[in-house]
Formats: sequence, structure tokens, C-alpha cells
Amino acid sequence: MSNTPVQLKNFSQLELENWVQTRGEKAFRGRQLFQWIWQKGVEEFKEMTNLSKSLITELEQNCSLNLSTVHQVQTSATQGTSKFLIRLNDGKFVETVLIPEGSRVTVCLSSQVGCALDCDFCATGKMGLNRNLTSGEIADQLLHVRRFSDCPITNIVFMGMGEPFHNYEPVIRAADILNAKLGFAHGARKITISTSGLVPQIRQFADEGHRYKLAVSLNASDDTSRTQLMPVNKKWNIADLVTACQVYTKASSNMLTFEYVLMAGINDNLGDARRLINIANKVFCKVNVIPYNEVAEDYQRPSKTRINKFLEALEGARFGVTVRWSQGDDIDAACGQLSTVAQLKNENTE
Ligand code: SAH
Ligand code: SF4
Repeated sequence: MSNTPVQLKNFSQLELENWVQTRGEKAFRGRQLFQWIWQKGVEEFKEMTNLSKSLITELEQNCSLNLSTVHQVQTSATQGTSKFLIRLNDGKFVETVLIPEGSRVTVCLSSQVGCALDCDFCATGKMGLNRNLTSGEIADQLLHVRRFSDCPITNIVFMGMGEPFHNYEPVIRAADILNAKLGFAHGARKITISTSGLVPQIRQFADEGHRYKLAVSLNASDDTSRTQLMPVNKKWNIADLVTACQVYTKASSNMLTFEYVLMAGINDNLGDARRLINIANKVFCKVNVIPYNEVAEDYQRPSKTRINKFLEALEGARFGVTVRWSQGDDIDAACGQLSTVAQLKNENTE
């Protein structure tokens, strides 16, 4: 028999029910196990007091709940945002961010170590893809943050490191754990998955009828500049993307969010605003403008005046517009600033 422990956090609730049955237990023991792991967040099998002694012994001998640990937490002096550096069992790192803003407390989860999509303006993109996270590793991030946070978490966004739809199945499985009654019981409409625009997966997401919300990173108003910023646009251009977004909003009746990272001299002129209106008018959506957080030397955040001019130009459009002044830039925890290159380097030289 193999000595590698069974990682129970990578199982869905149903898989746990099936698994305990193969060990001669009733299915409801699997539900209890799921509840101990995610809802109650216990770390030791012996704390699972409603399980039989023999099952606890069996779990201790063959299974593990240890997928990741918190290596470091940095809290912004000015904004209250905390960045968690999480160490995975194989020594790799990801980052998770906790963003308290009044009664709204958002957690930003990572879905991959690095990202393959290589958007020119993004720190994670510069790392390349190291590996996908498992569903357990994704949900574990929320367990760590929940232990740390004084306030209940109200919103969860898949906007940390990685392209969630490049790791589709584990991300959906993780979202299902967040949403499950015996898991984190987090409302589906308060869970948002952000994609750079992988059209087949947007269509799959629509087909499968998930109730989680979708955000799409548009970031440019014409194909030439979008391709320069986001190589993914070579494969699926803005027209393909818009059609897939329409399929999603129709299938789900959910409003979609277009994210538009505003960069000085790149995508912030009045022509861009006009073209953005034309694109977004075709979709049941709102637009979230994100003033650029500086990571790459080639890109800068526009001045306040210019940002306001851009926003004014969007007034009167059919869709709503919000601005996300990212939190946590003093600790590199803002959108697009997540990168664990330094940590990976350290790890490799240990
Ligand atoms: N890969 C997914 C989700 C993670 S990125 C995606 O691209 O949608 C989350 C958001 O941060 C995206 O909208 C992305 O465009 C934005 N972003 C990336 N780098 C940024 C930066 N330097 N400043 C502001 N936003 C950035
Ligand atoms: Fe990947 Fe998103 Fe960064 Fe693009 S913006 S490199 S898709 S994490």
C-alpha cells in the first residue's frame, strides 16, 4: 500500500461521501467530514467528535488535511488590506488578499502559481505559469483568511494570481466548496470569477448553468491594442468575446462585469471611451474601471484629471460604471501586483 496520504481537502462533498462508503461507513459520515473540514475548519481528525474512534484512527493513518500553510502576512499601514503569502506543500507560493472596506470584506483568491497568458502589464503574467492549484489548495486560502479576519467575509473574487478559466475544473470545484451549505455557505452571487477572455470556457460556464458571477478583463477598446496588451486576443478577438459574453448573460440572466484597467496614453483617450461604450452597450453589463497599479515600467496610471475625463465620457452610457481604486498598493497587494518570483527564487536557493 502506498504511504502517500489521501488529501481529503481535494475531494468534493460527494466524493467524500463515496470515499467513506468504500471504507464501510455510511454516506452521512462523508458529509460530517466535509463539514468539519470546511465549515468548522478543524485541523486534526481527533477533533471530529461525532465520528467513531475507529474511523478517526483510519483517517489519521491514511489521510491528511495539510495542503498549505501561511508563510507571511503583511498588512497595509494605511488601508487595512492584508496580503497572505501561502506556502504549498511542494514549496511553491501563492498570494491571497483580504480587503476590508466598511461592511464589505473581500477576499481575492489565486487559482494558479503564476499565469501563462502573459498580459504585458501584469506582474503575475511576468512569472509565467508554474502550475495549477488543486481545488483544495484554492479553498484552503479562504480557510487561512477566515481564521485571520475579524469580520465575516462578504465577497470572494477569483482575481488573484492566475487565469481561473485556464484551471477551469478545480476552480469550479473550489467555488462549489465555498458555496456548499456544509462548506463556507457563501452565496453564489457573492463569488466572482474573473477571466481574461477564454471564449470556450466562458461558453462552457454558461452551458453548465453556474450561478457564480463572471467578470471579463477587456482592458482595451480595439483589437490592435488589446492584442498588444493581452496576447489571448490573438486567439479570441473582441467580437468573439462579446458574443460569448452575450451567451453567458442570456443563459444566466446575470449581469457581467467588464474590467478595464486604465493606463496612461494606452487606452485612456476619448476615442477609447467611445469604443468602450460601443462594446459594452452590446452586453448586459457594468464596467469596472481600474486605474493601473504600477508594476511594469512601460505603463503608468493616468492622472486624476485624465481618469475623471475618461469617466465623464462614459456618462450617459446604458451600463453602470464603477471605479476600483485598488487597495493595498503599499504592500504590492493591489490588482496585478501579485507575484511570488522573489519567494520562488529564495526557495530555490535554500
Ligand atoms: N487572470 C484573470 C484574473 C486575475 S487578474 C484576469 O485577467 O481577469 C485580475 C484583474 O487585475 C484583471 O482584470 C486584470 O486586468 C487586472 N490587472 C492586472 N494587472 C493590473 C495592474 N497592474 N493594475 C491594475 N489592474 C491589473
Ligand atoms: Fe494572467 Fe490575468 Fe495577469 Fe493576464 S491579467 S497575465 S490573465 S493574471
